[in-house]
Amino acid sequence: MLFSELQLIEPVLQALSKEGYSSPTPIQQKAIPPILQRSDLLGCAQTGTGKTAAFTIPVLQLMHQQQQETARKHAQLQTLILTPTRELAIQIGESVKAYGHFLNLRHQVIFGGVPQFSQVQAIKRGVDILIATPGRLLDLMQQGHINLSTIQFFVLDEADRMLDMGFVQDVRRIIAKLPAKRQTLFFSATMPTEIQQLANMLLTNPVKVEV
Ligand code: AMP
Repeated sequence: MLFSELQLIEPVLQALSKEGYSSPTPIQQKAIPPILQRSDLLGCAQTGTGKTAAFTIPVLQLMHQQQQETARKHAQLQTLILTPTRELAIQIGESVKAYGHFLNLRHQVIFGGVPQFSQVQAIKRGVDILIATPGRLLDLMQQGHINLSTIQFFVLDEADRMLDMGFVQDVRRIIAKLPAKRQTLFFSATMPTEIQQLANMLLTNPVKVEV
């Protein structure tokens, strides 16, 4: 199968071709069509399967289409990608940059352990997509720098690692600030009971994808 068979728009296909990708991986084949149809998704997939592109590509496309429809010129926070570690956050930021190369969407990566000043400055200039680890996101929310009320797309990446790293309470606090009307994409390599409960709470009629 080719990416060109997945109903992707030209600027996204061009970016994939620039990256040297021609064929979607199994998780991408299964996840991209329902996400483009605006379905919630429960993805059971490990790192290395291409799961980052599986959620990034369709979300970027949906955001671009909305931007065109509404003729919006300025950035507005619409997408939150929550991930457990700084390394994953940076990697996801690189994916967003690569697949969104021909789109006009702004993203910012935020994580702890570094001064927050430059992250806050970037957010103040306006972003469409925020890629964050839970602790720093909560800090910036509590200081009033970030408001999640305009989020339309929420991705929870590596949910089981969030649990292992003791982030579940933080994640629940963040979720409580998200609007009810949104599309949620939930990824976890394993599905222990606590993760299933979190997924049930977050997702509405999700399409389930396993690789
Ligand atoms: P991930 O599972 O998201 O961490 O991705 C694993 C690696 O596969 C990353 O280095 C991606 O750049 C690469 N990758 C993702 N999708 C594709 C694809 N369709 N074709 C070739 N490489 C890919």
